[in-house]
Amino acid sequence: MIRLTTENTQKAIAKCKQLKPTVKFIKERIFAVQSANNERIYHVSFDVKNGEKFGKCECRASERGLVCYHLIAGATANI
Ligand SMILES: [Zn+2]
Repeated sequence: MIRLTTENTQKAIAKCKQLKPTVKFIKERIFAVQSANNERIYHVSFDVKNGEKFGKCECRASERGLVCYHLIAGATANI
């Protein structure tokens, strides 16, 4: 999982606001985010350890350790 910080989420937050992807609640801490570019659905999951937030997405950016806008979309819904 990727640790979510103020720094590494900035770009993804901007992109998320721009694209406004659709988020569906699946279950506790797991969401399905509809891609803004195609029909793909990405599942994102979250965890909190020692007060720090962690997230994981199925897309390639996330596999490379980057925070994608899917994660932000899910995190916004994950309240
Ligand atoms: Zn993603």
